[in-house]
Amino acid sequence: MGYETELKLFIDGAWRAGEGDIAPVINPANGETIAELSLASTGDLDQALEAAHRAWPAWRELDVEKRAGILHKAADLLRERSEAIGRLLTQEQGKPLTEAIGEVLGSAQMFDYFAEEAKRGGGRVLVRPTGQRSIVIPQPVGPTATFTPWNFPIYLLAKKVAAALAAGCTVISKPPEETPGCTGALAKALDDAGIPKGVFQLVHGVPDTVSRHLIGSPVIRKISFTGSTPVGKHLMKLAADGMKRITMELGGHAPVLVFDDCDLDKTLDMLVPQKFRNAGQVCVSPTRFYVQEGIYDAFARGFAERTAKVKIGNGLDADTRMGPLANGRRVPAITDLVEDAKARGARVLAGGEAGEAGFFFQPTVLADVPNEAQAMNVEPFGPVALMRSFASEDEALHEANRLPFGLAAFVFTENGRRANRLGDAIESGMVGINNFAISVADAPFGGIKESGFGSEGGVEGLASYQVTKAIHQA
Ligand code: NAD
Repeated sequence: MGYETELKLFIDGAWRAGEGDIAPVINPANGETIAELSLASTGDLDQALEAAHRAWPAWRELDVEKRAGILHKAADLLRERSEAIGRLLTQEQGKPLTEAIGEVLGSAQMFDYFAEEAKRGGGRVLVRPTGQRSIVIPQPVGPTATFTPWNFPIYLLAKKVAAALAAGCTVISKPPEETPGCTGALAKALDDAGIPKGVFQLVHGVPDTVSRHLIGSPVIRKISFTGSTPVGKHLMKLAADGMKRITMELGGHAPVLVFDDCDLDKTLDMLVPQKFRNAGQVCVSPTRFYVQEGIYDAFARGFAERTAKVKIGNGLDADTRMGPLANGRRVPAITDLVEDAKARGARVLAGGEAGEAGFFFQPTVLADVPNEAQAMNVEPFGPVALMRSFASEDEALHEANRLPFGLAAFVFTENGRRANRLGDAIESGMVGINNFAISVADAPFGGIKESGFGSEGGVEGLASYQVTKAIHQA
């Protein structure tokens, strides 16, 4: 099946081309242009704002069972179409097809989860003298603007949209311009599921123009962004002018603390595929591996041996385990980080080079990487594992908490007391202990420190699209 999709904007219940400039859509596996996308003009954005404003009262008042029914139907359609949508995603973004299909199925789960969670979101009744009532109720915050990136273009969009719609908000989403086919397919599923006109709009455009226009509009009451910390800070400043509520899911630099009491082979068998999943372009990707000194050499050797076997190629090929990077600008960015680490004394145990065609970079393992290396301080967001050894638990904890980021962290140990201590002491929004399953529909996902604030997923994810009202009756 070739690349085929509408590549249009979805505004006020209708599909149409944007009135702005044209942007190419590129297949990162070969660098070829596969489609052209017409971007939104400010006039298109005004129509989206007007539609979201107009549709909100009826959507918030709609029986929650009916809202949930539409979201469940969208989930069913995503599951039915998962293979076709997965192919669009692989062609636009590069990840192996099995990962792409998994992403679509995970997105369907988000719609199912929030459809049900919305029904449970009650408030509370306060203790008052007989005849008086004080109640606290959650209400939808209102028209919401979402901005999502290219690494998980469907899943990250679904996380925001499913929660916001379930809460009773209308939504304008700006997904990444790199992947309009697969995000358009998500909008198509909502359209086919019967989402009322104006409740959900999908707009592509020049990111800075779209975010300034939407965040600057009095219609928008809430902003939810996933992306890099610098862009998050910029959007927060824009939101401050209108005192708008925000959720910021930003960059990370996940430490992995590996203790000598872990099951080494089992740990390596888990770690290596996780490191190279989506070519490392994952905000919670395991990145800084701190390994206890007694097992450091065996760990590094085992990691490098497994890495050398990771088959890279076009994500549509059945045996591919790692695809290209999602866009051309990531290749020089990763090359610079690897060269800098080498110049500072890091040893290359595997990979280390860019590919020839497409946006490929070899799965790379760097050992003895000094803390001064840039890669140990800025988010690599690529297929690079960085390793160093540690002597004591205190030293490992100090390294884990060294950076201003605090999104995810991982610990591998069979010592239960140590697991408890580190689970408490590591500064991050999520800690995985002998486990990588930290992004699930029913649990909060989000960072602290410069990794942002606010949670997606779980009851917290629904609450992020609600405001609280207290009603006192004498
Ligand atoms: P970038 O910072 O330019 O963009 C990151 C995302 O933000 C993209 O989706 C982009 O479309 C969007 N964006 C950029 N400027 C915007 C604006 N003014 N208004 C609204 N949206 C805007 O960087 P990039 O080259 O796309 O990626 C580089 C870095 O971004 C990575 O190294 C990584 O650190 C981070 N990133 C993080 C995530 C995540 O899941 N947290 C996802 C993608 C990228």
